[in-house]
Amino acid sequence: MSHSGSVDIKSMYEDELRELLTDMGEKPFRAGQLFSWIHEKRVKSYDEMLNLPSGLREKLTKEYPYTTIYPVEVLVSKNNDTRKYLFALSDGNVIESVWMKYRHGNSVCISSQVGCRMGCRFCASTLDGLVRPLQASEMLEQIYEIQRLTGERVSNIDIMGSGEPMDNFDNVVRFIRLVSSDKGINISQRNITVSTCGLVPQIRAFADEKLAVTLAISLHNPIDEERRELMPVGKSYPVEELMDACREYFRKTGRRITFEYALIKGNNDSDRHAEALAHLVKGLNCHINLIPVNPVKERNFRRSDKNVIRNFQNKLEKYRINVTIRREMGSDIDGACGQLRKRYITSQEEKHF
Ligand code: SAH
Repeated sequence: MSHSGSVDIKSMYEDELRELLTDMGEKPFRAGQLFSWIHEKRVKSYDEMLNLPSGLREKLTKEYPYTTIYPVEVLVSKNNDTRKYLFALSDGNVIESVWMKYRHGNSVCISSQVGCRMGCRFCASTLDGLVRPLQASEMLEQIYEIQRLTGERVSNIDIMGSGEPMDNFDNVVRFIRLVSSDKGINISQRNITVSTCGLVPQIRAFADEKLAVTLAISLHNPIDEERRELMPVGKSYPVEELMDACREYFRKTGRRITFEYALIKGNNDSDRHAEALAHLVKGLNCHINLIPVNPVKERNFRRSDKNVIRNFQNKLEKYRINVTIRREMGSDIDGACGQLRKRYITSQEEKHF
């Protein structure tokens, strides 16, 4: 049986590699060696896998393309604690990843799709729709390549860049299992956050995967009729259904939920919104992250004033809700999701026409 063509070696679990290699007439123990070269030593090509017979290395090179990505642009913030990478994939598409240095370790925010089809009004990633989902290997490479480039260990991952992870469910689950494998780069699931705009059936299925990761919900408005104006996904899955799915996630995993709330001037930042939000999350073990919205050139949203943000926080705290205001990092280097890619694509188009 021939697997070549559509098989992506870097996205495979060790037992899948074992099956592939035995089908090729190789010894089963080669699977462990191959897995270790890919995910533990993280080499850039089959040529470097020195304990594999050269015949096997040649066969793999010929038949199974080895996924790599490379940086086409790197932006470094003035205080050097944030770097934004624009990576090229093997088909020429580009994606963004962000590296952030914190006192407790380094965090990487990765993309899960090229573009996005969710249509959130304030988000730059969705302006041109979905191009394609990312393979698990292409999500892994964002981590591996950034660790190579910075020379520093990555300890935390946010699947919170461009794309909707729950719209690329199987590949995202595979990525999480591979990146947290103790035979690979071994990043603890407890240090991984998956952010979703609220695809309810997938959130429920995700709870059944029994992963120890944090689920972040992009809520942005607690009032259903208003939320669906801001986030079209709300038309399919109303806020109450979303909250039910969150309660199920907590019940099944014991993991505290995070709610993301981007404050938009005159849109979702009133006392009425704060109270509705407090009411909505009452009794759920959760944390609310307030984010001053990043203005996107193509959209007409502005961030709430500082005192309005503070007031919103105070209101929530009166209800004894855990709430933080996101520390802004890298706003001097194209902060909002998808802006760097958008600018790059536009400039390439200008070169062509
Ligand atoms: N699709 C997923 C993950 C990608 S978006 C999701 O919706 O959660 C990551 C986070 O950035 C989400 O909370 C999203 O709502 C938020 N976001 C997108 N554009 C933004 C902007 N212009 N300003 C502030 N937050 C934004």
